[in-house]
Amino acid sequence: MLNKLFNILFPESCPICNRPSSEHNTAPLCPACWQSIKPYHGPACRKCSKPLISDESIECGECIKDEPAFASARFFGLYDGALRKAINLFKYHRIRRLSKPLSEITAHLKIPPVDAVVPVPLHERRLRRREYNQSALLSRNISERIGAELFVHCLIKVQDTKPQVGLSSPERRGNIRKAFETENETMIRGKSILLIDDVITTGTTVRECSRVLKKAGAGSIHVLALAHGIRD
Ligand SMILES: [Zn+2]
Ligand SMILES: [Zn+2]
Repeated sequence: MLNKLFNILFPESCPICNRPSSEHNTAPLCPACWQSIKPYHGPACRKCSKPLISDESIECGECIKDEPAFASARFFGLYDGALRKAINLFKYHRIRRLSKPLSEITAHLKIPPVDAVVPVPLHERRLRRREYNQSALLSRNISERIGAELFVHCLIKVQDTKPQVGLSSPERRGNIRKAFETENETMIRGKSILLIDDVITTGTTVRECSRVLKKAGAGSIHVLALAHGIRD
């Protein structure tokens, strides 16, 4: 009923197929496009879950060289198609309500029990511009669902780094070194943590956040993301 009324008052068409968006929950994406969002089941690195090209390799090159500080990483689907569109609308176009259905797609992913959920933080300059941290909104929903605490003020971003895309692996590490710090460390000490990011692009960010959390005394860290950049 409310859904119908909303559609009459605010008619929207799907940005992918132009059909009317009849489902308020996932609007502006129409139900058919939302249904096209599918989980990734292809080959993946056993440590960082990076999608791999071949079934034969079990670990990605990065993990062979440099073991991540997190114990596991999971993501829902590839950063492509309708999932990419939905994440970008949520992240850059202030369609905040998408945080709910986007959080829900991760519900079936197997994650170990954790004490607390920590979002990958935004630098405050970026936060002011964007008005909210998309990973913090996802974290709130996920922490409620799994019954864990939500720690939004333990990991902070102190440097507004440039985008990681297009940088080599050493350049990315250099770019992000010293970008994150911890606060309220007594809260995280010994706690198992679920670190939430919207998209894992190169993995450098979640690796660095995990390293910093570990250094501050956190217990095991597990990473959860909506999407992973397409295999390179
Ligand atoms: Zn559509
Ligand atoms: Zn890996």
